[in-house]
Amino acid sequence: MDWKFDTIAIHGGFESDEKGASLPPIYQSTSFIFRDPDHAARVFNLEEEGFIYTRINNPTVDVLEKRVALLEGGVGAVATSSGMAAIAMTMLSLLREGDEVVAATTLYGGTVTLFKITLSRLGINFKFVDPDDPENFKRAITEKTRAVYLETVGNPKLNIPDFEEIVKIAHSVPVPVILDNTVATPYLFRPFDWGVDIAVYSLTKYISGHATSIGGLIVDSGNFPWEEGGFTQFTTPDPGYHGIVFTEKFGKAAFIERTRLQILRDIGGCMSPFNAFLILLGLETLSLRMDRHSSNALKVAEFLESHPAVKEVNYPGLKSSRYYDLARKYLPRGQSGLVGFELKGGYEAGKEFIRRVKLLKHLANIGDARSLVIHPASTTHQQLSREERLKAGVSDGFIRLSVGIEDPDDIIADIEQALKGL
Ligand SMILES: *Cc1c(COP(=O)(O)O)cnc(C)c1O
Repeated sequence: MDWKFDTIAIHGGFESDEKGASLPPIYQSTSFIFRDPDHAARVFNLEEEGFIYTRINNPTVDVLEKRVALLEGGVGAVATSSGMAAIAMTMLSLLREGDEVVAATTLYGGTVTLFKITLSRLGINFKFVDPDDPENFKRAITEKTRAVYLETVGNPKLNIPDFEEIVKIAHSVPVPVILDNTVATPYLFRPFDWGVDIAVYSLTKYISGHATSIGGLIVDSGNFPWEEGGFTQFTTPDPGYHGIVFTEKFGKAAFIERTRLQILRDIGGCMSPFNAFLILLGLETLSLRMDRHSSNALKVAEFLESHPAVKEVNYPGLKSSRYYDLARKYLPRGQSGLVGFELKGGYEAGKEFIRRVKLLKHLANIGDARSLVIHPASTTHQQLSREERLKAGVSDGFIRLSVGIEDPDDIIADIEQALKGL
């Protein structure tokens, strides 16, 4: 069936079960009964698809994986216990000691420490380059480079890389491009349409949308030529799975199948069926919410730009943004719900703004239906030196908003009263 986005978001990957359920039930069961010994042997030998144990696959989680893979136009997906688990398992599936990764400097903080501290200790080397100039990726790639890593909308800088140019550079080697598409979601940006090879998500944010569950997901485009890229774990007999060759057995789905059968099996960062159920509910309304997040954020950004207490506003949908043209090219439906702004009053004004807001919730998350606010200099970026903070786009008076889907007049009124006299 050739359904469009909103139909897949509600029906993709599920028709009914044997009891006639109209939406995917929660299969809160660790393991699944085999019909007979031959059936068990066939499932274990990958001759027949079937559920064995929820660490590897589960019927509720399976619907979520199929649904997002359909929304993305990918060959398969693996759901994980968190966004960080999705990123870590992707890297562990692709890389080994001695490999290099070229990554943008503007990544999510948790990803930066995963790369710089945890994976670097395993002998994987990371080079961070300014993503504003695609040539920086070309200069950093060597014969040891095995991945290029980007985010659709960097947080808190809200920068947008030029995907087409960066993908062209990576594929000329070829090196696979991995993209964290958490802030845009597949509704605002379809990574594989622009040549990205693997997309990773924190489902905790907009896809779940209601801040109920931590979850992550890896999606495979099926397009990367693993033989040419020198990824022998996919193209030669694998001792971890009785000598199968993943590209022979699974063709285009070699990466995602090995990520499930080896990495998810061995590392164990699987998603709980209950979280998959809640995230599937959120996913049903993704397009409605992203339209509203985007239009509310643009209204808030325009209001802030006209306010005398505000020095500068970051929002890629504003004409004044240096990323406006890239936003029009890559995110024409809307630019999601994150807005950054700098208060003229600096550090103390930033903290005072947080004290005064009433509707906006003060917490360290994004992508909730509720509007959220944080002062990064005194919280998320407190551990960095002032110089490092400024490089990350966090000045003393910088405020980050995750604009929710409430009435925009109420959001703006709350911001307005908090700005008075600052
Ligand atoms: C939150 C976030 C993550 C990490 O996801 P968790 O679900 O919290 O583990 C990764 N990338 C981005 C862009 C995020 O916003």
